[in-house]
Amino acid sequence: MLEHDVIIVGGGLAGSRAAVEIARTNPSLSIAVIAKTHPIRSHSVAAQGGIAASLKNVDSADSWQAHAFDTVKGSDYLADQDAVEILTKEAPDVVIDLEHMGVLFSRLDDGRIAQRAFGGHSHNRTCYAADKTGHAILHELVNNLRRYGVHIYDEWYVMRLILEENQAKGVLMFRILDGQMEVMRAKAVMFATGGYGRAFNTTSNDYASTGDGLAITALAGLPLEDMEFVQFHPTGLYPVGVLISEAVRGEGAYLINCEGDRFMANYAPSRMELAPRDITSRAITREVRAGRGAHRDGSPGGPFVYLDLRHMGKEKIMSRVPFCWEEAHRLIGVDAVKEPMPIRPTIHYSMGGIPVNTDGQVRSSGDGLVEGFFAAGESACVSVHGANRLGSNSLLECVVFGRRTGASIARYVENRKLPSIDEQRYIKEAKQQIQSLLEQPGEYRINQVRQEFQDAMTDYCGVFRNEELMKQGLEKVQQIQHKYSQIYLDDKGSCWNTELIEALELRSLMVVGQMIMTSALNRQESRGAHCREDYTERDDEKYLQHTMAYYSAAGIDIQYRPVTITMFEPKERKY
Ligand SMILES: Cc1cc2nc3c(=O)[nH]c(=O)nc-3n(C[C@H](O)[C@H](O)[C@H](O)COP(=O)(O)OP(=O)(O)OC[C@H]3O[C@@H](n4cnc5c(N)ncnc54)[C@H](O)[C@@H]3O)c2cc1C
Repeated sequence: MLEHDVIIVGGGLAGSRAAVEIARTNPSLSIAVIAKTHPIRSHSVAAQGGIAASLKNVDSADSWQAHAFDTVKGSDYLADQDAVEILTKEAPDVVIDLEHMGVLFSRLDDGRIAQRAFGGHSHNRTCYAADKTGHAILHELVNNLRRYGVHIYDEWYVMRLILEENQAKGVLMFRILDGQMEVMRAKAVMFATGGYGRAFNTTSNDYASTGDGLAITALAGLPLEDMEFVQFHPTGLYPVGVLISEAVRGEGAYLINCEGDRFMANYAPSRMELAPRDITSRAITREVRAGRGAHRDGSPGGPFVYLDLRHMGKEKIMSRVPFCWEEAHRLIGVDAVKEPMPIRPTIHYSMGGIPVNTDGQVRSSGDGLVEGFFAAGESACVSVHGANRLGSNSLLECVVFGRRTGASIARYVENRKLPSIDEQRYIKEAKQQIQSLLEQPGEYRINQVRQEFQDAMTDYCGVFRNEELMKQGLEKVQQIQHKYSQIYLDDKGSCWNTELIEALELRSLMVVGQMIMTSALNRQESRGAHCREDYTERDDEKYLQHTMAYYSAAGIDIQYRPVTITMFEPKERKY
């Protein structure tokens, strides 16, 4: 059996930042980072626009309090305010720390870190490295993993959390290269496994964002929090869904409909294109529904609106958002200097996740904690984003709560022993599970079942939701789940069996999908990204609460947990 003091599953920003903190706090600890991709291929590398912190380099009137207020208002008052206080207070410090590690941020003329405008933020506080911020930060963090002697298990797939009597003891995983199966035990296990964008058919997320960590947690009998809050990013490039960063609007681009109108004037007159994402995504969907979207030939009534950069000029476009220009040019042949880009909302971010306290320790219920189990980053819900995340607050969450969770793990393992595990039992069960997937005499192909599932999630639980639609959706997902038990895999081998990985990932997506839809069906109000056509108002009396969803084969049990309010009383949210 493999063993380390600490196991971190996930080599993105949250997992890498936690590993660095553990090594800095106690260099004698043995740390393993496990990732199904190479760590620098984690989705964090694709982050474009930036990371928020009230450094006041551009806007001296900014403060952590202003950042906290914007975050809480953006969350539609569902964020836990103690967590938001930590996020925004520690932000300047973590950004400076990244700079000291060597991250190449874009600069002002006087050499200080540059800061740009972002949706829902009342001050220019987003620090960036052109439009490749995630790339700049992740590369430096992964360099540091090497420097600190962290053991990297790249291209290992974690299948199961070993949880016994409310204590996390290790994980079961296999090496993608040759199928070798191993149990790894540790004094503490941390999940930093990212989001689940692939549960939907149009997403900005990479192919590996399949919600594995969430599904594994739910299958171990632990709750998932606020799963109904799924973020649509307003500007996914049509038709591919690839992200055009909010930085483009931060730098001054317009949203226009097929009539050439800047329609945001009708939805958020004070913030226009820089309204929060939930409001902007709904505005675009409403324009399209009203027939003011465009077709590729420019005629009205089509499925997308435009993001117009033309007035910004070539020089600004090429120096501030060169990657976005290149994406549109390479993927759909649009030269954004001369023509507007076709865009529509695309699934982008998971506000909910594995419930944790502000030290990153996982909650077993509304008031209990799991021993030895921690989580941070997009897979966790601490909850700083509540019902709607502001752009550039996610990289920040990964770094602030990655660091805090790392520090608390280093303290936690001090007086703990390695747990004992019946290794053979877990290996035998996992081998049986894989064997039956490989051998089942099925009739469906994996991509067909996955497509059907992704279409169902998009059609029945999209930007606008209602009871009838979601009930149909749940039935549909159950039918698809039945088909999953009859999938047929061509590849029966153990060397780089990507088809098998896809089958396991689809299982994760289907668990996550059911948690999203059931949580959404139970929340009979509209709040942030969760917009119900049958309950159009926010209902603080009943639903100023976090959803805690418990998965079991028999069905999903929904409970609620109170929101922590310390600074800002809930108000109507207007922009
Ligand atoms: C295109 C795009 C642009 C973005 N731009 C911004 C931005 O400008 N600013 C901002 O604040 N946020 C942005 N975001 C959001 C932000 O990038 C992510 O929320 C954040 O990077 C997530 O980091 P993470 O460490 O939680 O997970 P990830 O970076 O997704 O890493 C997950 C890790 O878990 C591993 N893993 C998962 N499952 C398994 C398994 N079963 N076994 C082993 N390993 C596993 C993966 O291999 C990977 O290493 C953007 C997101 C996207 C998609």
